[in-house]
Amino acid sequence: MNDRIDFPMNATETDAAELDAADDLSAFRSRFHFPRAENGGDAVYLVGHSLGLQPVAARDYVDRELEDWRRLGVEGHFEGDNPWMSYHEALTDPLARLAGAGPGEVVAMNTLTVNLHLMMVSFYRPTPGRNRILIEGSAFPSDRYAVASQAAWHGYDPAESVIELRPREGEDTIRTSDIEDLIEREGETIALVFLGGVNYLTGQAFDMERITRAGHRQGCVVGFDLAHAMGNLALRLHDWDVDFAAWCSYKYLNGGPGCVGGCFVHERHGRRDDLPRFAGWWGHDKSTRFRMPPAFEAIPGAEGWQLSNPPILPLAALRASLELFDEAGMDRLRNKSMRLTGYMEHLLRTRLPEELSIISPPDPVQRGCQLSIRTGPAGRRVHGILSEHGIRCDWREPDVIRVAPVPLYNRYTDVHRFVEVMAGELGSVG
Ligand SMILES: *Cc1c(COP(=O)(O)O)cnc(C)c1O
Repeated sequence: MNDRIDFPMNATETDAAELDAADDLSAFRSRFHFPRAENGGDAVYLVGHSLGLQPVAARDYVDRELEDWRRLGVEGHFEGDNPWMSYHEALTDPLARLAGAGPGEVVAMNTLTVNLHLMMVSFYRPTPGRNRILIEGSAFPSDRYAVASQAAWHGYDPAESVIELRPREGEDTIRTSDIEDLIEREGETIALVFLGGVNYLTGQAFDMERITRAGHRQGCVVGFDLAHAMGNLALRLHDWDVDFAAWCSYKYLNGGPGCVGGCFVHERHGRRDDLPRFAGWWGHDKSTRFRMPPAFEAIPGAEGWQLSNPPILPLAALRASLELFDEAGMDRLRNKSMRLTGYMEHLLRTRLPEELSIISPPDPVQRGCQLSIRTGPAGRRVHGILSEHGIRCDWREPDVIRVAPVPLYNRYTDVHRFVEVMAGELGSVG
């Protein structure tokens, strides 16, 4: 899938509108609410990597549960259309489809960093000879804090136990073969290989299958943070043999601010009773949970890692969004995504001065929908001007603009508009 997609050299707004007209996923846009721009129209929303938009159906789904609570009180756990006792189970199949997993391998629970810790309690089992954790040099800060605190909690010095992958001098992203080489060289001292499925800063999508294989060859556990990968890439976690993963649902999954995240635990580990874990009543065998027995007996599979009964209102919003993913299908979305982001890259490369570099990988397979653009000194000003034009994108110090055309709700004309304004400010070469 390395073939580049061809777009006209001087793509006009009319060309973009034609691409929209030919897009069989374009109708999904109307299923979302868009923030207003300063001029009163819809904002050009390119920040689905930070907070996905609200599905129109979300309010109705949340209202139904508020209504059941109003009508039924505590009985809502067992009565009503969607009894709360098993509410989270309605999200299991859609999440499993997005993760490329069996239903027993995923669960919606907690929030991302909490889940990372719960997963590491079970899957980071350091010994004096093998206690290191391999992460990306530009890992999201919460991930870095989480792994460092896990190492410290086991009595190891994070300065020695946490090792970071860096791109080669003069490069922005990390070569898969360099990751494999490092694991090959140092793997026997590494307890856990833990990378983002998609790096939040550069947008690089890691080759999870190859990295997992390399880690397993050296006896390492391999886990991924899928904050920027769920709902963005077509994932096959089970077949790739990944040990565990965790994600949040407010980015590409459109679950709403602070919504319930999730975990993947490979089937291989789902019934192991030799793994330590932090337990809670919601992970206990459902048939005896309410007899409240003194000894914990885990539900087999990912559900056995649950602690608490989950917050129903955010789950309801997420459910509305997951139904849209099922309607559209992740393979179709990914297909559109490659074209849409390829189109943005094409316009940026043909319209903008060369100093402006795209640090995301040029190979569509090695990125999701996001492009990260190094802007040079004019960046902050340009970001402000984009905002005045109703274009929402993300600014990272010192000089990176991150934009994510999201295939569920963004259009080719959104992308065209964004590049027009950038080119107007930075000097067009077209
Ligand atoms: C967004 C993000 C987080 C945020 O974690 P929360 O616990 O949901 O606040 C953590 N890690 C990565 C890689 C992220 O992209």
